[in-house]
Amino acid sequence: MKPHRIRMTHNLLLNYGLYRKMEIYRPHKATADEMTKFHSDEYIRFLRSIRPDNMSEYNKQMQRFNVGEDCPVFDGLYEFCQLSAGGSVAAAVKLNKQASEICINWGGGLHHAKKSEASGFCYVNDIVLGILELLKYHQRVLYIDIDVHHGDGVEEAFYTTDRVMTVSFHKYGEYFPGTGDLRDIGAGKGKYYAVNIPLRDGMDDESYESIFVPIISKVMETFQPSAVVLQCGADSLTGDRLGCFNLTVRGHGKCVEFVKKYNLPFLMVGGGGYTIRNVSRCWTYETSVALGCEIANELPYNDYFEYFGPDFKLHISPSNMANQNTPEYLEKIKTRLFENLRMLPHAPGVQVQAIPEDGAVIEDSEAEEKVNPDDRLPQRDLDKRMQHENEYSDSEDEGEGGRRDNRSYKVLFTYYSNVIFCA
Ligand SMILES: [Zn+2]
Repeated sequence: MKPHRIRMTHNLLLNYGLYRKMEIYRPHKATADEMTKFHSDEYIRFLRSIRPDNMSEYNKQMQRFNVGEDCPVFDGLYEFCQLSAGGSVAAAVKLNKQASEICINWGGGLHHAKKSEASGFCYVNDIVLGILELLKYHQRVLYIDIDVHHGDGVEEAFYTTDRVMTVSFHKYGEYFPGTGDLRDIGAGKGKYYAVNIPLRDGMDDESYESIFVPIISKVMETFQPSAVVLQCGADSLTGDRLGCFNLTVRGHGKCVEFVKKYNLPFLMVGGGGYTIRNVSRCWTYETSVALGCEIANELPYNDYFEYFGPDFKLHISPSNMANQNTPEYLEKIKTRLFENLRMLPHAPGVQVQAIPEDGAVIEDSEAEEKVNPDDRLPQRDLDKRMQHENEYSDSEDEGEGGRRDNRSYKVLFTYYSNVIFCA
């Protein structure tokens, strides 16, 4: 979880020239006030006070807040939390203002953090804070998590509400954090609004797509969110130091590609990922997918070039590990989840649409005109995608013809770089 991962990602996508197609912001430091929209006052006060040199005075609180072992104290801890949270909140604000259609915070995605507890290298849950911000403008927000670990902190935060559906694909069975059973489906008003896809070792690209596409399609159809948050944890990649899946960068990126097609306000965040050369490969590629432009497999020279040897390529190959997820197993899970999704009240009263291209806000009354939920890609959206391709062929400096549609191209990227993290 060293911020070095983010620095490497940032540097690689700069050297691919992707910065020319997006706006890049250094995030503000989220204030204690912003962070206590979800976290408890005592917990945030503790994070602000704790330092490596005063740890001995905080033994009791360290135990209470689960800080010290998996979640160590380090210099700049609080600032790290502020920047990670600030990025996701700012990204949500941009989406709410319709200042962008896709916002990315690779420094966010810390899905394990709880209201009053750190967990799995996560201290402040930037995702929950980002979703709370989106809920100011959006009736329903969809959260999708493709980290190899269960997105427990986000699920718990929204377990009893029907305004946020959480969908987590993760390794389950003798694996951190231990939650995310198929039978955990939400509670109270939130019953059926938590979706868990428990998986076994060795998930490959084909298996992943075979379950991701039908489940997300069904979720979109039944839940009809007006904004989507995707946690892109890269520890589900092949060869991850802590992971046990066998996805390639391309297979992981297919999830981004698929969600993007819905043309909903879209927040992408990072998450886990412990083989850092592959984390930066993955998130650079996914930035290019968000932008809708192809990038070469040959890596450009960059500040961390030596990390990418011996091949110096963007894409990686799967290993020969066995895939313990048989088609029958995946089919069984899918059937069970579809049964649950059928319990949702179908087609909610108000159809909230993607932001129209002229930037005008659709009033709820106008939006009530029903759109066939199976028809998720109206011509307008297809046109938009065509324009992306045209734009790309126009080359970096907008060439002849220039940009036909600036708005549909805006992707924001936030990052932090001024934290020194030693672990
Ligand atoms: Zn993880």
